[in-house]
Amino acid sequence: MDLELLHRTLDELGEPRFRGGQVWSWAARGAGGYDEMTNVPAALRAELAERVPFSTLEVQHTATSRDGTVKTLFRTSDGRPVEAVLMRYRDARRSVCVSSQSGCPLTCTFCATGAMRFGRNLSASEILDQVLHFRRIEPVDHLVFMGMGEPLMNVEAVLGAARLLPDVGVTHRRTTVSTIGWLPGLERFAACDMPLQLAVSLHAPDDALRSRIMPVNERYALDEVLASCRAHFARTNRTVFVEYVMLAGVNDAPGQARALASLLGPGRAFKVNLIPYNPTGVYEGSSREVIAGFKAVLEEHGVRATVRLTRGRDIDAACGQLAAKAAAA
Ligand code: SAH
Repeated sequence: MDLELLHRTLDELGEPRFRGGQVWSWAARGAGGYDEMTNVPAALRAELAERVPFSTLEVQHTATSRDGTVKTLFRTSDGRPVEAVLMRYRDARRSVCVSSQSGCPLTCTFCATGAMRFGRNLSASEILDQVLHFRRIEPVDHLVFMGMGEPLMNVEAVLGAARLLPDVGVTHRRTTVSTIGWLPGLERFAACDMPLQLAVSLHAPDDALRSRIMPVNERYALDEVLASCRAHFARTNRTVFVEYVMLAGVNDAPGQARALASLLGPGRAFKVNLIPYNPTGVYEGSSREVIAGFKAVLEEHGVRATVRLTRGRDIDAACGQLAAKAAAA
């Protein structure tokens, strides 16, 4: 729901301010439409249904994985493709992965979104509508900004959406923003008062390799990105998650694990999340054994590390696969 349009419309109709809060709290709790908002007068409900579309996004396609993961392709009102994913875990955790942009202006070589055309930044309401779509199916409690786009290039909308997530059932501590280390946005993010989690996509232990697989490194190099992350940890005492996608023969050698460990150092500032590569045609993923070996080297050097569970691979819903294939139409 376009919340600015909602408030403007209520003002035009001479409605008291609290009506906006009533409407939002119904939507945030998973209401399917204005009809369900029993504490809002029926005439007003009808008026709103005419003037404020219940969602800024239209569902175009949904796919469900064998593991229960659901991927939905939406269209914005100006026809831009947006994908979001609901991940269901055995421990009952429900996590939504949202997009912050339609497409992405960055060109990371291993990422499917990086190969598609950039559309535009999404509004806070368009980000929230991805979550509300899944909230209408079932309660959700975790959220990651790991869909299409670079969230910190659209930091105001991302923070605006994050601000309202607790109303939907997702606390700030269970909300993670993932970035390639876009420094201006990172500064703005670090200055915000919400205890959001930060994840940074590193993928290489040195600038030469990182620039080769992530051209944005030419602009914001490793040492600057890591310095900014360390400052964030020093101020908030919240560990920064380092994302590292495992590419066979590219960044997965034991020497590279040692280099990564010395870059990050022991201590609580960083924790590494090794991501099994989801093939998008360019690289081969590292084997399970190689990933386990890489993790062991990090741990020997006092760096905490986990291997990310892959979800939704059979429906192209896994990390880096959100490229809106059905969007060509
Ligand atoms: N632009 C942000 C957020 C979106 S991507 C960022 O890059 O952090 C979320 C994560 O998925 C990033 O760590 C990204 O590097 C990773 N990723 C991209 N393509 C992938 C692929 N094909 N397989 C596994 N992980 C991938």
